[in-house]
Amino acid sequence: MLYREYGQTGEKISALGFGGMRFAHIDDHDECIRTMLAAAEGGVNYFDTAPGYFETKSETVFGKGFAEFRRRKIPFYTATKTFATTEDAIRREVEAQLKRFDIPAIDFYHMWCITSLDNWQSRKKDGILQTFRKLKAEGLIRHICVSSHLIGDEIKELLMEGVFEGVLFGYSAYNFKTRQKAFDAIREKKLGAVVMNPLGGGVIPQHPERFNFLQRPGEGIVAAALHFLWDHPEINAALVGFQTVEQVQEALAAVEDYKPRTEAEMEAVKAGANASLEGICTGCNYCDVDCPHDIPIPQFMDAYNQKILNNKAGEDPIGERLRWHWNLDRSVAGTCTACGRCEKACTQHIAIIKRLKEIASPVAAASEMPADK
Ligand code: SF4
Ligand code: SF4
Repeated sequence: MLYREYGQTGEKISALGFGGMRFAHIDDHDECIRTMLAAAEGGVNYFDTAPGYFETKSETVFGKGFAEFRRRKIPFYTATKTFATTEDAIRREVEAQLKRFDIPAIDFYHMWCITSLDNWQSRKKDGILQTFRKLKAEGLIRHICVSSHLIGDEIKELLMEGVFEGVLFGYSAYNFKTRQKAFDAIREKKLGAVVMNPLGGGVIPQHPERFNFLQRPGEGIVAAALHFLWDHPEINAALVGFQTVEQVQEALAAVEDYKPRTEAEMEAVKAGANASLEGICTGCNYCDVDCPHDIPIPQFMDAYNQKILNNKAGEDPIGERLRWHWNLDRSVAGTCTACGRCEKACTQHIAIIKRLKEIASPVAAASEMPADK
């Protein structure tokens, strides 16, 4: 295993991190723990979850996994998050999390998913920073971190405040262009950096032909995508949301095979990244809240991904995906009344309303797709 120092904390975390958001069967605790153990025994020591993953069930499973690690004397770090902003609410959350994990302190505690700079200002007004500092002074959390899907100058501005020890943000071979400015702040403030969605929510392995600019001879697509991340010296760990032991083994093999790219090779990769890969939905589901018409937005945006990734003449990739993968009628997209809630929540800043309109409109669909079967 490759270990890297998390910012200035002195903690050495594994370059491969375990994300607790994608367990295949969250109620099958034995299976979940087996998956965690396979990672831990392979040297993974960074385990990241959140109270919202499977409605706290992921944290509960992590607690059981940690008990097993302790029994086997396997070292591990805990990382989790809170959406709460007031002192009372944060304290209640932390106490519940410590209980679930059965540990005295959370190693890396994140202010979860800062959605905009306004959102950050509002959380600060509620006293989030002071509370995190108090919790750290009391020994209940060890490092103050933040997670965000902000892009461009906004992520840089957030991190340049210099109040965090580390950041968790979405970064992968398909969206790296929109996240480069984060690295300016990470370097300047000497922050720890963990990246999530390293495989683009599954898009990269599902479309290897689109991402072959990443691959060197003999390199599989998953390994190539992870290697690309580890080629960034600022990135301490890439979090993979493992579903199965096999996926863990594949990622562990990628660590073993890792050979850093030269600068010239890195430039070639960046040059090879097609601009059309930007704006792809990562399936993070953050937009799946409060739609007044219950539109299954992530599924529709996943279908739209197919247009970006698989738009071959004479085919209807959106319609095919909706029909055969999601069993959805494209007309449902037409019930959108453009209230904007989902766009505000979208971590990839996707123009959801416009895409839904395009999906729903038979005229637009017919004009761009010769045969809408
Ligand atoms: S913009 Fe449309 S899809 Fe999004 S929440 Fe509002 S009605 Fe639903
Ligand atoms: S549309 Fe945006 S928020 Fe919704 S799943 Fe896709 S990337 Fe996530």
